[in-house]
Amino acid sequence: MSTMPVYSVVVPCYNEQEVITETYNRLTKVMTDMGETYELIFVNDGSKDNTAHIIAGFCENDASAVLINFARNFGHMPAISAGMEYSRGQAVFVIDADLQDPPELFPEMAAKWKEGYHVAYGKRIKRKGESIFKRMTAKIFYRFLRSMTTVDLPSDTGEFRLIDRKVCDAVNKMPEKNRYIRGLVSWVGFNQIAVEYVREERFAGVTKYPLRKMIAFAMDAITSFSHKPLKLATMIGFLVSFLSFIYILIAVYQHFFTDLTVTGWASTIATILFTQGIVLMILGLMGEYIGRIYSEIQNRPNYIIQEIVKKSD
Ligand code: UDP
Ligand code: MG
Repeated sequence: MSTMPVYSVVVPCYNEQEVITETYNRLTKVMTDMGETYELIFVNDGSKDNTAHIIAGFCENDASAVLINFARNFGHMPAISAGMEYSRGQAVFVIDADLQDPPELFPEMAAKWKEGYHVAYGKRIKRKGESIFKRMTAKIFYRFLRSMTTVDLPSDTGEFRLIDRKVCDAVNKMPEKNRYIRGLVSWVGFNQIAVEYVREERFAGVTKYPLRKMIAFAMDAITSFSHKPLKLATMIGFLVSFLSFIYILIAVYQHFFTDLTVTGWASTIATILFTQGIVLMILGLMGEYIGRIYSEIQNRPNYIIQEIVKKSD
């Protein structure tokens, strides 16, 4: 497509061969019904299954589809970043490949955009078919994150949203690594509004977010948008020093005025373990921030594109 489309749709895909055809069909239906020009940008994040091959098939027959193949698996956020950078639409939709977020909500989001909003984000009022563990951890995570930061990060919101070209450009311009995209989108400001929806079960396949990735993701979110953990470390440090000081006074008192001193073994061990634990925790916490500073300084790209596949016109 040589002219600039009105809408872009960014779809990050990692091992989604079971759903991707259904996703393509539903996206195509919704976008054609909306009756404006569009491009579908599938970012294949180093899938090990047939995903890339299937998407390349769409691109052979459909000039509005394009496939961006990563050189390896870089992650959900880098995949979305690549799609946003490649997109040229006046408004950009971001949606997961697994149909947990219904594309049928696009017209409602587009209506908000036409009213003058720059961001219409999907807010989950219910999550279907996800484990209690996932729902609980998600809930705690969003509440905790909000309490840690001064940026107004909406709860129960994923990457499912429409963003205006201006917002897209502003986010693309931010060079930071370890990107927590929904946070960056909130951070830029503009007029943002929630569109509520029920989050469906995955159409097929399994989650690509095991606990390990969830924890890394939560760490990115918190450290990108808050320095409070570092302040917390200082506060805990002061508190523990204060308690230790009181304990020293008690120990000295016992030494001079009582004969209880030899019975102090348990409390000594307890104190050592406790303070050591705190010190290690705080060191680890600082390590998190230092690691992030290091990756900013290394300044490696967030992703590497192996090839871009689209219909030759
Ligand atoms: N995804 C990706 N790279 C990854 C992991 C996930 O591009 O390393 C994509 C995945 O294909 C899906 C979206 O990110 O479109 C969200 O992943 P998933 O549905 O597995 O996460 P959940 O909804 O379970 O949190
Ligand atoms: Mg999902």
